[in-house]
Amino acid sequence: MATTERRIWIDGELVPWDQATVHVLSHSLQRGSLVFDYMSVHETPRGAAVFRLDDHLARFFHSVHLVGLPLHADAERLRAGILASVRANPGASAVKICAYLPSVEVELVPLDERVRVAIAAYDPLGDVIQPKGVTHRFPEALRVRIERVRRKLDAVLPPQAKAAASYLGPMSAKWAARRAGYDEILLVDAAGNLAEGPTTNVFLVDRAGTLLTPPVGGILEGVTRRSVLEIAKHDGRPAREQTLPPAALFEAAEAFLTGTTAGVWPIATVDDRPVGDGRVGPVTRALQERFRAVVSGCDPDFAHWLTPAAAGPTG
Ligand code: PMP
Repeated sequence: MATTERRIWIDGELVPWDQATVHVLSHSLQRGSLVFDYMSVHETPRGAAVFRLDDHLARFFHSVHLVGLPLHADAERLRAGILASVRANPGASAVKICAYLPSVEVELVPLDERVRVAIAAYDPLGDVIQPKGVTHRFPEALRVRIERVRRKLDAVLPPQAKAAASYLGPMSAKWAARRAGYDEILLVDAAGNLAEGPTTNVFLVDRAGTLLTPPVGGILEGVTRRSVLEIAKHDGRPAREQTLPPAALFEAAEAFLTGTTAGVWPIATVDDRPVGDGRVGPVTRALQERFRAVVSGCDPDFAHWLTPAAAGPTG
């Protein structure tokens, strides 16, 4: 489906892709006050289905609450809106739900507090990336740089809030790292411990095969991270949430990132030093394949994590 045919749900109405716009002086654009969540859609034996829809929706409402946006929409209506958007946009592989202040404002605290909600079900690759002429394949394993400048926003806005403004620092750091030849960065928390990537969580595999990942206090709790921990538990694979200094990466046998777009993504090097033997390790490979099977609805143990769009109420 071309974007000219795509429709975006805005406050209950499906509007054409090109008309889903805001004013250049809108509060959300000027102050970065937009709050969002992002989830994946998969073709499964039961048709197009959203992965862990209710977990994403709960996190969206939590972000809205942390930022303090006065959003008066109930979860059931937005849930129906997400499923309706997927049905209206065949071939969509992702859904982005945003709450934003469309009003043109001068001050930091808006005079017009009306919050709008937009839900876009689309295909990031076919709709956005490829039309820009980008055809590159992602590397099999990532070259990562540790960004040691500590997150400054944490004191005012907790990392659990998925707000547009939170991504500005990581964007600058990642852009600089890209120019220096790296694929990705890892951020440290206020205490200098390993936190997460700009849009991913991080896992280490120690020499005994135990999964290690930073605890939820200083990170955005990823739905993929939670899924990997739950799959590990189900499979009897040892896993621990614990504080990790960046140096732990150099002692690990394997390391990988997790995220809605990334899935399970191996890390090859950190600060130009190989992690483990520098190749994709067996634990990472097994989890990557397992996670792919789970999201595509091929694993009956986790089929309940997928909500088919066809079965949802219209709205
Ligand atoms: N951390 C941050 C800061 C993120 O933006 C994301 C992407 N939502 C993640 C971690 C990974 O979360 P998820 O697995 O839910 O995509």
